[in-house]
Amino acid sequence: MRLKSIELSGFKSFAKKTQLEFGSSITGVVGPNGSGKSNIAESFRFVLGEQSMKSMRGRRGEDMIWNGSAAVPRAGRASVRLVFDNSDRALNLDFDEVSIERVVHRDGVNDYLLNGSHVRLRDVAELLSQANIGSSGHHIISQGEADRVLTASSRERREMIEDALGLTAFLYKREEAERKLDKTGENMREVAAVRRELQPHLKFLMGQVKKIEQAQALREELADKYTDYLAREQQYLKLTRAQLMAEKGEPEHEHARLGERINHLRQELSKKRDDVGASELVRLEEEGRTVAKKQEAAIRELGGIEGELRAHATLAKEQGGTIALSEARSFAERVVSELEGSGNLAALIVLAKEFLRRLTHTPSAGRTTEELHAKKHELEKDLAHLRAQEEQTRSAVAKLRQELESQKDMSRDAERELFAAMARRSELESTLAGLRARSELLAREEEQYKAELREAAVLLSRIPETDVQVVFEDEPRGAQEDRRRKIERLKIRLEEAGLGNSSEVLKEHAETSERDAFLARELADLEQSAAKLRELIEELTKTLETRFVDGIDKINIEFENFFKLMFGGGAASLAIVKEKKLKRGASEAHEGDDEELQDADIEIEEGVDISIALPHKRVKGLHMLSGGERALTSIALIFAMSQVNPPPFIILDETDAALDEANSRRYGDMIENLARKSQLILITHNRETMSRAGILYGITMGSDGVSKLLSVKFEEALAVAK
Ligand code: ATP
Repeated sequence: MRLKSIELSGFKSFAKKTQLEFGSSITGVVGPNGSGKSNIAESFRFVLGEQSMKSMRGRRGEDMIWNGSAAVPRAGRASVRLVFDNSDRALNLDFDEVSIERVVHRDGVNDYLLNGSHVRLRDVAELLSQANIGSSGHHIISQGEADRVLTASSRERREMIEDALGLTAFLYKREEAERKLDKTGENMREVAAVRRELQPHLKFLMGQVKKIEQAQALREELADKYTDYLAREQQYLKLTRAQLMAEKGEPEHEHARLGERINHLRQELSKKRDDVGASELVRLEEEGRTVAKKQEAAIRELGGIEGELRAHATLAKEQGGTIALSEARSFAERVVSELEGSGNLAALIVLAKEFLRRLTHTPSAGRTTEELHAKKHELEKDLAHLRAQEEQTRSAVAKLRQELESQKDMSRDAERELFAAMARRSELESTLAGLRARSELLAREEEQYKAELREAAVLLSRIPETDVQVVFEDEPRGAQEDRRRKIERLKIRLEEAGLGNSSEVLKEHAETSERDAFLARELADLEQSAAKLRELIEELTKTLETRFVDGIDKINIEFENFFKLMFGGGAASLAIVKEKKLKRGASEAHEGDDEELQDADIEIEEGVDISIALPHKRVKGLHMLSGGERALTSIALIFAMSQVNPPPFIILDETDAALDEANSRRYGDMIENLARKSQLILITHNRETMSRAGILYGITMGSDGVSKLLSVKFEEALAVAK
């Protein structure tokens, strides 16, 4: 990579467009004081992205812009454009020529352009760091700044050396990684905070979900219990109904039959069946009495006839004596017969009167004995007939009486049966009433069952399965009652769970836990990238460390050489030092009080110290050096730094100002040495230095305050410089 040219436009005293070309490895810039030479060195700083206005002798961006003079009006902007030959692709851009341009406007806004395209400052810095053109500007040594490397703090010095060693790119990377790590940490804290914020709600939702799940379990338990209960109930109702039907059949049938029988018996009993028999009996008894009367009359008549006959005989005897014995015997026989027969007192009285009359009377005149005997015979015949008739009647009465008696027996049986039937019927009726009561109870139970089925359907949001086959043991009804109570208790618990819109809660829980999981993943991802970044930082730190230590070793060799060359002996070296530093933000109270310092407040800072030993002198400290010695020491160090990792170009603004003639020559030799590896731009008043330059530019400033550039020859340069 080679520096081709720089073009200044409106930059400081370069009001007009001015271009310097660097066709030689050593370019000298000469000119009188105040002509604008240092502005050229600053234009390099400017275009390379320098942010410190102070290092460019300004307070703000505007100070970089041509401020105008009586002759030339001020500019609106300042721009500097640097052109590199990039044939070797030292800059990681696929262009043979790379131009970097910075523009500053009066409002302080800066533009950076890479081959004409707007880019960020960072892009410029990164690109340049690849080519070992760091932003610390170790390769641009401003006027009077040569011993900056000596006056700097060990930490600043370390930074300059890191820059010179080309470690800036690694530092950039590490800073970038650290920035990313910070950002990642920030993101992690944010995500963690969001996640933390989410936790109470998530916990609440989880509680709700648990409740819902419990309620769900309760509902399932309820469904099981309902299914079992309802199936059993259905079975019970079915069986009970069938049982009632079966139990009812026989009694109902018997009841109906008994009803008919009772009606029949009642009808039978209400008939006056005994009337006919009774009147017949009355008639027969009347008939008996009539026959008895006839018999009496016949006996009386017969008695009369016999008396007449006895009178006839007495008369015959009176003629012969008293009443014949036969006649008395006949009378007695008749009395006995009469007594034995009807026992009729009247007939006996008639008989007795006749006998008395026969004892005292004589037979009446009129009828003959024969007539009387005929009549007697007739009467006896009648009497026999009557006696037979009487006998007949008597037996008829007896028979009828018996008949009537037996009839009475029969109706008594019917009554007995009727009573028995009625008793049985009322027994049956109470049985049937019992069955009816059970039937009504069953009907109520069936109603209740239907209601329970409806309720279950509502509670379970589905019609419960009831056709489940349950082993229906003949258990007491109380078992179902127990089940019903358990169901009631479950219903209460379910109601107490009191979850309104569970689907919404579940949805929200799903969403929230998904969000939580997402955040957790995010956190894990961030943690992973943080780990990677930490790894990268560690790696870069190690690289930096080794390269730095290695670089210091190499610089030391060169430093020693240059130092010896400059001073004709002596020794010089760099040393890495570790300094304990109070961390920024650590308690002020601890300051200056080492014992009380906490480890956490202390930071180990690595720096670089310089130690030198002048030949033939006992000078050890840098502060003891003369101005010239300081200049020589710093030049030796700057050159040593440049040798280890040569930058593409080095700008030295009057670094040689303090050198005497002998040292100027040594300086000149070293410059030629240096120019083999880096392009040199030397702003100088030193003739020795000028003599080493391949190209010399003279800068002049007229009364218009504008710096002007001209190519000059060595002799001209000597004149211009003065
Ligand atoms: P020396 O040899 O004394 O170091 P020099 O050649 O390095 O001098 P510079 O310091 O580069 O000179 O130039 C300083 C000149 O630039 C001053 O005259 C100053 O007025 C001028 N100058 C600086 N900034 C501006 C600006 N913004 N507008 C106009 N002129 C400016």
